[in-house]
Amino acid sequence: MYKAFLIKYAEIGIKGKNRHLFEDALVRQICYALRSVDGTFHVHKQQGRVFVETEGDYDYEETIEALSHVFGITGICPAVMVEDEGFDKLAEQVVSYMDQIYPDKHMTFKVKARRARKNYPMDSMELNAALGEKILDAFPDMSVDVHDPNVMLYVEIREQISFYSEEIPGPGGMPVGTGGKAMLLLSGGIDSPVAGYMISKRGVAIDATYFHAPPYTSERAKQKVVDLAKEISAYTGPIDLHVVNFTDIQLAIYEKCPHEELTIIMRRYMMKIAEHFAKEDGCLGLITGESIGQVASQTMQSLMATNEVCTMPVYRPLIGFDKQEIVEVSEKIGTYETSILPYEDCCTIFVAKHPVTKPNVNVIKKSEEKLADVIDDLMDQAISTVETIHVEA
Ligand code: ATP
Ligand code: MG
Repeated sequence: MYKAFLIKYAEIGIKGKNRHLFEDALVRQICYALRSVDGTFHVHKQQGRVFVETEGDYDYEETIEALSHVFGITGICPAVMVEDEGFDKLAEQVVSYMDQIYPDKHMTFKVKARRARKNYPMDSMELNAALGEKILDAFPDMSVDVHDPNVMLYVEIREQISFYSEEIPGPGGMPVGTGGKAMLLLSGGIDSPVAGYMISKRGVAIDATYFHAPPYTSERAKQKVVDLAKEISAYTGPIDLHVVNFTDIQLAIYEKCPHEELTIIMRRYMMKIAEHFAKEDGCLGLITGESIGQVASQTMQSLMATNEVCTMPVYRPLIGFDKQEIVEVSEKIGTYETSILPYEDCCTIFVAKHPVTKPNVNVIKKSEEKLADVIDDLMDQAISTVETIHVEA
């Protein structure tokens, strides 16, 4: 029955002169999301609305699923779209719609018409009253409640006429591509995929860097990260995932530096290497899944020590989140099940029993001097042997 979806968007509606840029990005992202859905779709802007029109048969569930991953959308309204064939025909179509959508007629409703095409012979008030009357005539169990109706029936008069009464929530945020690009440090854990999702929700495209340590970490651990990248790419769009072999750097740190500082030193080299790829990819910042105090390497002192090597802004959207709050988002976006698969990540193998919780940057730097004669070569090696995987949902 539905031939169209009316797309609601909130924040992007208030961007003044930039509004069309945001709407164009939204249209682009919707087209991208629908590219693999069964059906033919026409996505277009019309008088302050974005419509997805369908042509012929299409898969309703898949369409909703795809649209509910497009940042910028606040609501998806499945709509009936008809040609203007006069009021009587419209009333008939509206009554038949109400009949099909609401099998239980014991309900209140209100008609809210909007005449965007001013040459339509009735104004919105007249339409509200006349359509309301037709519905009441057809279904005596229904009644009108103008203050708090069970169902609000929207009727919008444009070239064509559309009506809808249901709204499926979208993810909100801003369309990807309106906010530049950032480099996500993506591990196999729960946090970093959520961090990538959250920054991307603000319109930011994402690339990712993953550090693995074969043979200490397995091919399956790497595959898990590829899978996570793929899961978030349903929201973020395509991701170039850089897989960096970190083994030799980790072994060198393990061999030459105090063990209680291993994690911090390792994290500093991760940031440096990720920043290298970030610059190459035209990113404007780094993203991590860190949260204050979650582990020893995420105390304020540790974050300061890690941050000290970065020249780009580091975005840490989970910084004030409790673990449970992060888990909730990860369940909502569908990464949780993958994240909890029990494959080791490279940090769990080289962990000290008693890591420093209040590292001093100068002490850390002093320890890093012990790597001076090898680290440049090892970094070059890690960077030049990177494997880049293009990931797309
Ligand atoms: P996560 O659940 O994201 O793995 P975590 O709680 O395990 O986080 P850490 O292991 O201390 O925390 O890592 C902190 C952040 O550093 C991660 O959120 C991620 O952004 C980055 N990171 C950690 N390990 C890796 C890795 N192997 N490859 C890429 N990034 C990593
Ligand atoms: Mg981790």
